[in-house]
Amino acid sequence: MNSQSTNSSSAMFSDSLMSADDALSFLIDSASVTAMTEAVSLDDSLGRILASDIHSTINVPGFDNSAMDGYTIALNDNQVAQENLSFDVVDRIAAGSTGNDLKIGNAARIFTGAPIPNGANTVVMQEECTLSEDKSQITVKRAINLNENIRPTGNDILKDNVILSSGRQIKPQDISLAASVGVGELVVFKKIKVGVFFTGDELVEPGNPLTPGKIYNSNRYALVALLKQVGCDVINLGNIEDKLDATCEALEALESQCDLIMTTGGVSVGEEDHVKPAVEKLGELNLWKIRMKPGKPLAYGKVKQTPFIGLPGNPVSSFVTFCIFSLPFIKKMQGNSNYESKILKVKTNFDCKRAKPRREYARVRIDHSTETPLANLFPKQGSDVMSSVVWADGIIEIPENTTFETGTILNYYSMSELTR
Ligand code: AMP
Ligand code: MG
Repeated sequence: MNSQSTNSSSAMFSDSLMSADDALSFLIDSASVTAMTEAVSLDDSLGRILASDIHSTINVPGFDNSAMDGYTIALNDNQVAQENLSFDVVDRIAAGSTGNDLKIGNAARIFTGAPIPNGANTVVMQEECTLSEDKSQITVKRAINLNENIRPTGNDILKDNVILSSGRQIKPQDISLAASVGVGELVVFKKIKVGVFFTGDELVEPGNPLTPGKIYNSNRYALVALLKQVGCDVINLGNIEDKLDATCEALEALESQCDLIMTTGGVSVGEEDHVKPAVEKLGELNLWKIRMKPGKPLAYGKVKQTPFIGLPGNPVSSFVTFCIFSLPFIKKMQGNSNYESKILKVKTNFDCKRAKPRREYARVRIDHSTETPLANLFPKQGSDVMSSVVWADGIIEIPENTTFETGTILNYYSMSELTR
């Protein structure tokens, strides 16, 4: 593989200030859908991404059937819309069986889902029928019309129609639909493998005592959880010694077995950190300063041919940049056609008197008791305040270079959408 590769984009964006929208477009354009697919059973398909359209080879239902427990009747033309009619009950049809042809003027006991016999043209629910003592006859007081309570062939699905499209993330209801047309296996994209490691001399693993100047490594756990939640296989090398050789070794180990490599931290200045020079040595790196808060530094590049994303070190920055930039990138790689995060509109319960040069992705909690959902800011919006993310329902986009009054409608991403 070419370890000296460069491209024009790296020259274009290297070390430059960039808008969040440009960074996201660039990342999405750079992501390529995994080529690997596999067949999985319906039970194993939940959350996977369909790799081909599913066509139905049958009608569902495959036959006209009763929507009710009751009596199916072969109405004569002159009985249509007439009241107080009586019919001989000549047959009994349970779901799963078939009845005999019904002669005009006769009725058959029928149950929900049972096929309408030849000759029958309507169903009356049992609550509306009076059964004679010897059970040989029913009388229906109300007027009866044709085709009552009959579910016609193909009512749900027509033969040859596409029932599920490629690129769809499979939900329980999709599994139900596939099962209803008799499909037992689905061809899905293989899970992508994401390799991660972490650097920083200040980091201590949870469960161990802290010594002066040290902090717990929280990003490691956030990133692994986010990747697992979005359905990636994770190869976690843990903490890597902050030395160039060790960092290069880690990158090379991951490059050979992963579809994507991710790290957090060490992409702001680089003096104490070897991720930047190591990636540059083995491939290419764009170090972006994105006009956003939290976040700012984001690294995107390649280790040989494997894409690399370096998230910032501050926990909130790392979390938010994952959600805003990496998630759509990963979803596109996974083959998900719905890779862009859904934007909702909410009303601010706060104002902004001083325009800021960077777009803010502020953590807010939503009050749904008002007509338009109202966004309340977490009081501390620092990039080190992870409690803000835990408290929040989602993230509001405060546009750059703008002032606004309380009650302004802004873009909002729910946390469940950003981590799905
Ligand atoms: P850096 O981007 O490496 O300069 O780090 C920025 C800030 O994030 C510093 O305060 C780091 O201590 C902190 N930080 C970096 N990595 C982690 C991590 N894995 N867990 C928690 N905090 C981190
Ligand atoms: Mg660092």
